[in-house]
Parts: sequence; structure tokens; C-alpha cells
Amino acid sequence: MPITQTQSIELRPSNAVKWMNCPASIQMEHGLPAEASSFAIQGSFLHELAAKCLIYNKTVDDVVFEHLWDDDACSLTDEEIDMVDSYVQFVRSRLASDYENSTLLVEHKVMFEQVIPNGVGTVDAVVINEGVCHIIDFKTGHIPVEAKDNYQLILYALGAVYTFYEACFCDLFKLEIFQSSLNHAVCWEITRDELLYWGAIISEKARFALSSNPEVIPSTAACRYCRARGVCKPLAEHCLSLMTNDVTMEEQFNMREINSLTIDDIDNILSNQSLINLWLKAFNQTAKEKLQQGTYMPNHKLVAGRKTRSWKNPVLASDALKAAGLKEHQIYEKELISPAQAEKLLSYRHEVMQQHVAITQGEPVIAPISDKRQGLLTNVEDEFKDIVVKDAA
Ligand code: SF4
Repeated sequence: MPITQTQSIELRPSNAVKWMNCPASIQMEHGLPAEASSFAIQGSFLHELAAKCLIYNKTVDDVVFEHLWDDDACSLTDEEIDMVDSYVQFVRSRLASDYENSTLLVEHKVMFEQVIPNGVGTVDAVVINEGVCHIIDFKTGHIPVEAKDNYQLILYALGAVYTFYEACFCDLFKLEIFQSSLNHAVCWEITRDELLYWGAIISEKARFALSSNPEVIPSTAACRYCRARGVCKPLAEHCLSLMTNDVTMEEQFNMREINSLTIDDIDNILSNQSLINLWLKAFNQTAKEKLQQGTYMPNHKLVAGRKTRSWKNPVLASDALKAAGLKEHQIYEKELISPAQAEKLLSYRHEVMQQHVAITQGEPVIAPISDKRQGLLTNVEDEFKDIVVKDAA
């Protein structure tokens, strides 16, 4: 819902990707309910646990064992314990070997009011070591996050400069993402001057976002996390407009041509398919919520979903099936664990993995041209683009 009093809007580093790409996003989201996510709750627990490990200089096991961590509050899987431990080791690896000459700040508040009004944020870890300031962000999600041009990290780095005396004298800033869930660790190096230049750009964008009539600019980066994506008309119009052709007068004589997608149309739709998919999903959710609230729609209604069956109590059901005369092998299915599960139990070097795992090439998939993998087929136009054709005459 657009609002008139822009003073009540909060621009935060964690949602900078939205308002930097789509200045209207924060005002469009205003008043819409927050999206509860169990991943986000679990993510905050893991951050809290990691902070305890770093502050007390202990492992996850030590923190849990010594009751420095309330283990009733949240259960942890082995994978999550590994995630936190590897992040903690990563942060420690940025400290000087004697620890004495480094500064480590954990879950620290930084302020950057010079860049955005009331600008404040909490950095997972800041390490200042020999004139280099590391800004480290611990990510626990499963969508890879890049460090380069990452507005959240830039704001944290600016916050470090404006908040910590030692950071003022750093000439180099290493903005780092550590995403142990994906084995993904990336770093973007930026000088102090470049950082301040980014600060000016962000400040200008913040001004647009807080203005009374900011521009609405749909993009996957902005819309993916925007709570308005299910009700946003410019996004709907953008997605629907991707398939409209501009038809010239000459083409109107060729019915087949004007009704067929061109290679450019297909390429354009592919480039936008993640945006179209996320919009369709959000749009469906909005429509469902409206119908659940009793809103009348002339062409649609809610009906009961398909029924599924499950055992009320699997143990009692198993006993009852046996009592009914069925044998063990009839009521239980035995399945071999997957190579991935076996690798976790044995290691990929084990001779069983070497001798018994068959690798089948999957179906080709479409990837953007920026994808690092080698293309399967050579593009004929690319092959010939460097060849200079000499005039035969
Ligand atoms: S849904 Fe996308 S285009 Fe619409 S306001 Fe949000 S970020 Fe902007």
C-alpha cells in the first residue's frame, strides 16, 4: 500500500537489494504482512550460536555442553553444527596468528546515517587486521549470495568506517560472504575511496526510495523478496508484456510470421522466466488469499484440494496389517540408500564409491550465457564473428 508519510519507511541494509533496484518497493510493501519463514528463525538461532562460539572462543559442542547455549530453544542437526563450526573457523582464519594484533567484533551494531537516514545495521563479524577490514556475512540459506556489488555488505563496510576508530584507517575492505550450506565463500575487495563512492550512489538511491512518488522497476533481484510481488501491477504488466510483438506493416501480410515467436522473443522470455515464475506463484497466492477472505470473483472459486491418505499411527497400522495376514516383506519396502547418502557415511574415496557408482550424464539444461560451464554446442554466429570477409573484387 503506497503511503504518504515517507518518514515512517525504514531502509535497511538487508533489504537494500530491493530499494536499490526498485525504489518503490519499500513503500509498496508498507502495511503488507511480514512473511514468516521457519528458515529465517533457524537462521537467527545459528547466528546467535556462532556469535557465542566466537565470543567465548569455543566450538559448538563446547558451547552446548557448557550451557552457554539454550539447547531447548532450538534443535540442531549435524549439518547445522558443521555449518556453524566452519563459519567460526572461517572468521578465525581472518585474524592475525597471534590474535593480539587483530580486532574482532561480533554481531556488532554499525551506524551509517551519513548514507541513509537512521542508517543502522548489525554485522555478523568485522575483523580489522594490518590495515585491512574484513566484513563477514554468514548466510544460512540455500540461494547463493554474491559478494560483488552487494549493497548490504557495502553499507556494513561504510558503517564500520563511521562507527569504529580502527576501520577509519583501513585502505582495503574485504567484503566476504560465507555460506557453508552451499560450500560457497566469496570475497570482493574494494578500496576506501571506492567504498565512499558507492556510499554516494546508495545515498542517492535512498533519496529516490524515500521520495513521494518513487519509480517501480520490476526485476528478479528486487521482486524475489518483495512482499508486494503478488499485488504489484507494474510487475504483472511487465511479465505479460514480454510476449507482445511489435508488428510492422510489411509483416502483417505474413500471418505465420506475426504469430510465431522469434528467436529474440524466446531468448527474452528465457531471460525473464525466473521473474515470471516468481510473479505467477505470488499472484496465485494473492488470489487464493482473496478467495479465502470471501472476496467474490465472477470466474473463480475455492474448492477442496485432492485428498491424500496416511496411516494415523504407523506402528499400530503395521501390527494390524500383520494381524490381517500380511507378511513383513509385503508391508515394508526395502530401498538401497543413494550414492550421496553412502558418500556421507563412507567418504567419496572409499573403494565402494569408486567401483559401484555409475555416472549418467543428465539431460541438457538451459543456462544463462554468463554461466561458467562450457556450452554443449558451438554457436555458429560466434564461430564466424571474428572472420574478416575480404572483398573478392
Ligand atoms: S514487486 Fe517488484 S516491481 Fe513491484 S514494487 Fe516490489 S520490487 Fe518493485
